[in-house]
Parts: sequence; C-alpha cells; structure tokens
Amino acid sequence: GYRSRASYKLLEIQEKDRILRPGMRVLDLGAAPGGWSQVAARLIGGNGRLVAVDRLPMNPILGATVICGDVYDDAILAACEEALAGGADLILSDMAPNMSGIASVDQARAIALADIALDMAQRWLVPGGALLMKVFMGAGADGLRRDLRQHFRRIVVRKPEASRARSAEQYWLASDFRGTRRGPLS
Ligand code: SAM
Repeated sequence: GYRSRASYKLLEIQEKDRILRPGMRVLDLGAAPGGWSQVAARLIGGNGRLVAVDRLPMNPILGATVICGDVYDDAILAACEEALAGGADLILSDMAPNMSGIASVDQARAIALADIALDMAQRWLVPGGALLMKVFMGAGADGLRRDLRQHFRRIVVRKPEASRARSAEQYWLASDFRGTRRGPLS
C-alpha cells in the first residue's frame, strides 16, 4: 500500500507522460509522508537515485536519501546538492504551504514554493530534464508560467482525477529543460 493518496496523482501522470524511468536521478520536494517517493523509488529501481526532502520527518524509503528540513534553508540546499552528486533528471514538487486561511497570503506562499522548485531545477536539472510541480491557480501563476517557458521547451497542465476535488490545484509538467544551468551553490 501507499503512504498517501497523493500517490495516485503521480501514478495517473506517470500513466500518461511516462516521466519516471529506470535509472533516473530524482529529487522529490515536499515528499512527506512519502507516497510519491514510494512510486518514484519503485519505478527508477536500484540503479536510480532518489533524494526526498520535507520539513516534516518521514519514514525511510528503501534506497532513498531522506533530507529533513526546509527548502528555504541554505544548509538543506547544500545537503540536496551533495546527495544528488552531479545532477537530476527529474524534479518533483508536491509542496504546499500550511494554509493560513487568508487566500492572498496562501497563494503568495504557494507561488514562492513553486519558484523555489524552479530555482532548484535551474541549478541541478540536466539538459532535457523535467520538472513536475503542483501549482495553485491564482495570482502569480501566469508569471510562473512565463518563467518556466524560458527554461523548458514544453509545458503541459495535468489535472489528475485524484485531485479533482481541490479545484485550484493543478500539476504542471515542464519538460525538455533547455540546460541554462546556474551552476552549483557557491
Ligand atoms: N507528495 C507527498 C506524498 O505523496 O506523500 C505529499 C506532499 S504534501 C501535499 C506537501 C508537503 O510539502 C508537506 O509534507 C509539507 O511539509 C511540505 N512542505 C511545505 N513547505 C515546505 C518547505 N518550505 N520545505 C520543505 N517541505 C515543505
């Protein structure tokens, strides 16, 4: 069984887009409790590399490096970079902020998390790589899309059946990364 219902969203996207393949190096952002990581670990197999990050503690995933910390923390970025050891083929982000109840604040926080995922993609994704992330539709989504366009040749929107009830939530799959990397952390 899977640790979270979120697994089914990733499985549905996988079914259509085949983003996970054996041997891939994958970074999973906002991974706890670990449903996506379970799916990713199985599909990349023993020759793959999986780095899972969350500020909440999470049970181990066989074959994965689990990093417990906040993506806003530079020390956590450095830990990701070390664990990836040379780059990622795919970055997943199912990150979502803690909801404050103030819609404009929550939306801004959600877009800020998406910006961080894009930032990590620019640092670590190999040319041709892909970024799948949760996006909350609202203020800032258009700007995010423009930013993604600069770095990826293809962007598609996915709305898995398993996520239909959450109306503002979409998943964006940006693929064929142009390879304009920022270089490692200094
Ligand atoms: N994909 C996961 C799964 O399949 O089990 C579910 C992820 S859950 C929807 C969103 C996660 O994002 C939460 O576990 C939360 O702790 C994490 N998150 C939110 N903000 C974060 C941050 N700044 N740094 C690290 N993780 C964060």
